[in-house]
Amino acid sequence: MKRDYYEVLGVNKDASDDEIKKAYRKLAMKFHPDRNPDNPKAEEHFKEAKEAYEILSDAQKRSAYDQYGHAGIDQQAGMGGAGGFSGGFADAFGDIFGDIFGGAGGRGGRSNVYRGADLRYNLEISLEEAARGTETKIRIPTMAECETCHGSGAKAGTKPETCPTCAGHGQVRMQQGFFSIQQACPKCHGSGKIIASPCPTCQGSGRVKQYKTLAVKIPSGVDEGDRIRLSGEGEAGVNGGPPGDLYVVIQIKPHTVFQRDHNDLHCEMPISFTTAALGGEIEIPTLDGHAKIKIPAETQSGKVFRLRGKGIKGVRSSTHGDLLCHMVVETPVSLTERQKELLRELETLSGEDSARHNPRAKSWMNKVKEFFGQ
Ligand SMILES: [Zn+2]
Ligand SMILES: [Zn+2]
Repeated sequence: MKRDYYEVLGVNKDASDDEIKKAYRKLAMKFHPDRNPDNPKAEEHFKEAKEAYEILSDAQKRSAYDQYGHAGIDQQAGMGGAGGFSGGFADAFGDIFGDIFGGAGGRGGRSNVYRGADLRYNLEISLEEAARGTETKIRIPTMAECETCHGSGAKAGTKPETCPTCAGHGQVRMQQGFFSIQQACPKCHGSGKIIASPCPTCQGSGRVKQYKTLAVKIPSGVDEGDRIRLSGEGEAGVNGGPPGDLYVVIQIKPHTVFQRDHNDLHCEMPISFTTAALGGEIEIPTLDGHAKIKIPAETQSGKVFRLRGKGIKGVRSSTHGDLLCHMVVETPVSLTERQKELLRELETLSGEDSARHNPRAKSWMNKVKEFFGQ
């Protein structure tokens, strides 16, 4: 059984990013392998804290964890297949230990290889599309390898040269007190190469902005804010790093008839006051066409009828939600003289008995009386 990430870091569920970082820093300092040589327990703690921090410091992963627990994280990692949490951590780690242990990569002497940025695409779909699932094409801007120079950044006929400052390592060592600190080479910015004549198409960056069209499959039952990850479809990596991911974030257009609440649907149904009083059958809309429901006599405004299974089947649920129909009793308008006459007659017939026919008015009057202490 895996421990709760918040528990591991000893922070509250609503802890800020800063609190999470502080808590992690404290634990990492305490359990870091460099400070606890040959102590497997400390290493265990260190790994646990590291994992918790990886998740909770990433807004997307944290939200997935908050919603689905460890399962949400495992699923996310599994979806993409590649690498899981490779991105971001090195930066966070470097940020914390940079001043003490010397740089993101530790003692490895890596050059500045970065994973490409994750991209977000907001996709607006209709409620029907969300309910049934759909397939759509999206066009997204992305940084792709420059075709003119094949990503080298050098002008045709020239080649990038090995950086003389770092001899191609991309990193330089600097002595600071007791520590030897490794830093990205200031001349080549970590690439290890110098481009004398840059490629005119990409100005030497090796990457160009491009649009690409992707087919996205939207599973049935998605809800507002759900994310679909397209692994490796984010921006291209830097210096040969892996590409980022593309997150398609679902937004659902407001519907003219239905409001969605998780897997339930709500709709308002106006009914005439005679149908409300005498009862009858009315036709109500559902996502798969019309359905008939019986309105019992003496139905009050605000009464809700629940149609089981006429809601939405969520992405992660095995059953359909319900459709909840809210009755709104209408006051008749544009009455003829004859109709008004009949209503007045109805009123007269009710006479002193009106309280019996108007249960809500009666109980309301009682409350008013109570309020005034009579
Ligand atoms: Zn180029
Ligand atoms: Zn260099």
